[in-house]
Amino acid sequence: MEKLENNLMEKIVSLCKRRGFVFPGSEIYGGLSNSYDYGPLGVELKNNIKNLWWKRFVQQRDDMVGIDAALIMNPKVWEASGHLKEFSDPLVECSKCKRRFRADHVNSKKCPDCGGSLSEPRQFNLMLKTFLGPAEEKANEVYFRPETAQSMFVDFKNVLETSRKKLPFGIAQIGKAFRNEITPGNFIFRTREFEQMEIEYFINPKDNWEKHFEYWQDQMKQWLKDIGVKNAEFVEIEKEELAHYSKRTVDVEFKYPFGQKELYGLAYRIDFDLKNHFKEAPYKEEESDAFYPHVIEPTFGVDRSILAVLCDAYEEQEERVVLKLKPLLAPYKVAVFPLLKNKPELVAKAKEIYADLRKEFMVAFDDRGNIGKRYYSQDEIGTPYCVTVDFDTLEKNEVTVRDRDTMKQEKVKISNLKNHISMLLLK
Ligand code: ATP
Repeated sequence: MEKLENNLMEKIVSLCKRRGFVFPGSEIYGGLSNSYDYGPLGVELKNNIKNLWWKRFVQQRDDMVGIDAALIMNPKVWEASGHLKEFSDPLVECSKCKRRFRADHVNSKKCPDCGGSLSEPRQFNLMLKTFLGPAEEKANEVYFRPETAQSMFVDFKNVLETSRKKLPFGIAQIGKAFRNEITPGNFIFRTREFEQMEIEYFINPKDNWEKHFEYWQDQMKQWLKDIGVKNAEFVEIEKEELAHYSKRTVDVEFKYPFGQKELYGLAYRIDFDLKNHFKEAPYKEEESDAFYPHVIEPTFGVDRSILAVLCDAYEEQEERVVLKLKPLLAPYKVAVFPLLKNKPELVAKAKEIYADLRKEFMVAFDDRGNIGKRYYSQDEIGTPYCVTVDFDTLEKNEVTVRDRDTMKQEKVKISNLKNHISMLLLK
């Protein structure tokens, strides 16, 4: 068994394209710089990650509620949050080839592409601007949100009043965010349109924030286990490098084939955001005066999760490529094959089983080529179980279930098949 670091990125990009996980966006028109579309398998993987996240952090908790806010908000939000002023990256330009880079991404004063000299850095705002309404004038200027977080703060009172939650509690959201990145790249790692899963967890300022911070750090570790990501490291951000609103930040970094880089973040944002948006303190407990709750923010990138999951799941074995996805994440949970395509009784039985399993799971059906090829084709997209219908099925009402990782096969009664697979998927 070999885990190939060499060309791993190329292999993943090519697998994603070939099997329908991720395509270049607008490809037939020559693409659009670093935009990507999730294909039929990619959307399943993405939805599985988002659903698992929602289940763990919203559905199964008493102290969390969700929202789904507008992508375009009143520009005053971004004025108050400081994004219009502060949300920028340092940009440098090559005097020779005119290419632009993020100053903190280049090591020297020379252009990494042509060796030309680089300009002094200037701040470039990352907010993506557009116009709302027919007239392209200043008064109609708006921005696509660069993070989901601010809507959790802006909606804080509405959520509080309707959900009647008491501190400590959190608001969670999954949704798109947009940043006019200077240098997008590395496939879906850095794009201008991406998706986030964020939590703003509100605590009483008198409470022990370190305890909550540790707790969320542990939750993030558990989550990484849920999705099978092993090559991650929690990195404490030095005091001098903290954003002005943060008292403590830990970055969760992943060892991508192109280097160790941020996957997620965890920050203690104090009361910075609620103070920006609410002139009067928005929270009150029975006996107390109104006050500003403090915030712990665990943030998770959806697209970077997908890339990390794919990198850690990809394995090359002698004659097969196998994506060792956690069964809960796999686009298809099961594939059903009739042993022979030209035996109508086998095909009919396989179709019957396929139709029945589909009521519970995403299921693939394949009757092309030989069984060995069909297995390998499912291994490559991470399908954890394959069910083959053969002559025994017709005689004894049992099928062969083959396990992706061990390649072992076992006979299972059709009457018990759904249960059996449900049990296996929880492994
Ligand atoms: P970086 O330093 O890589 O630009 P950041 O520190 O600006 O990232 P945050 O503002 O903390 O990122 O955003 C929260 C999460 O959103 C990140 O941890 C990451 O998973 C995701 N994310 C941020 N920018 C992008 C992007 N351009 N493309 C894809 N995901 C992104």
